[in-house]
Amino acid sequence: MDEKISTTTLEEWLENVKPFAYDGQIADYIPALAKQNPEELAVSILYLDGDCVYAGDVETCFTLQSISKVIALALALIDNGEDYVFERVGMEPTGDPFHSIYRLEQHRPSKPLNPMINAGALAVSNMIHGQTPDEKVGRLLSFIHEMTDDHSIRFNSEVASSEFETAFLNRSLLYYLKQHKVVTGSVEETLDAYTKQCSVELNVLHLSKIGALFANEGRDLNSGRQIIPKHFARICKTFMVTCGMYDASGSFAIKVGIPAKSGVSGGVMGSLNGFGGIAVYGPSLDSKGNSVVGLKLLEMLSNRYDLSIF
Ligand code: GLN
Repeated sequence: MDEKISTTTLEEWLENVKPFAYDGQIADYIPALAKQNPEELAVSILYLDGDCVYAGDVETCFTLQSISKVIALALALIDNGEDYVFERVGMEPTGDPFHSIYRLEQHRPSKPLNPMINAGALAVSNMIHGQTPDEKVGRLLSFIHEMTDDHSIRFNSEVASSEFETAFLNRSLLYYLKQHKVVTGSVEETLDAYTKQCSVELNVLHLSKIGALFANEGRDLNSGRQIIPKHFARICKTFMVTCGMYDASGSFAIKVGIPAKSGVSGGVMGSLNGFGGIAVYGPSLDSKGNSVVGLKLLEMLSNRYDLSIF
């Protein structure tokens, strides 16, 4: 792709999609998320050559939520290797909502179908090395610091506690997984690590940097350092295509065609080989849990610049 988008165009596009923020709803099943402002919108594109174009509320921090599932998967693969991880979590999309419990009963031996649904992501969190939840989360944060080159990134403890106190479905998924020996150790401790992982707080500039690192085959854009082995970065991007947008991954692949992962806080991280990272934020969600404005913007970008990988 030769032509790059200008800041003015990106600002115009953001203005155009603003009204759609009222078509969706802010996630409130995690009570602390309900405080997000639907009018806060941001987009950042980091090209592989280091150029960054952004617009909107780029300083606004939001929690990663399910976007953390891709990062945690990369770390679990580094910690344990591919065989260990995929003995416990599958590689197939489900077509069900992210917190569904339904498929766990349908497969023997029981294992979550993929690492992007909650059951799989809980199992992946459980695999991250560390004696305590804080040690696991500390290692994940260091990994994120390395990827973003920003050591001030932390998790939001209010959002983490708010989810921990109300995560009855995730608790039941974990108990089920423990019964079937997919996870080991304490359910409460795994849930503690998972909710803190989901509450890691950053902005679209950070997120486009992480997306660009995945697009750059796991190498840091500036130093060239291999932070994620190329093969593991590829596995993560493949999951982003097949399961990254929950049970809307198929229509997203057709309409947008960019490997992407979304979270219920309203962030979406896109990662496009040969191009870079794209991050959008808009907390108003559609019925599948994807950012309404995020989807619109990604579709506009993909159509205008012919970004689909297909
Ligand atoms: N922490 C959230 C949960 O487990 C993440 C879900 C999401 O972003 N889809 O419910």
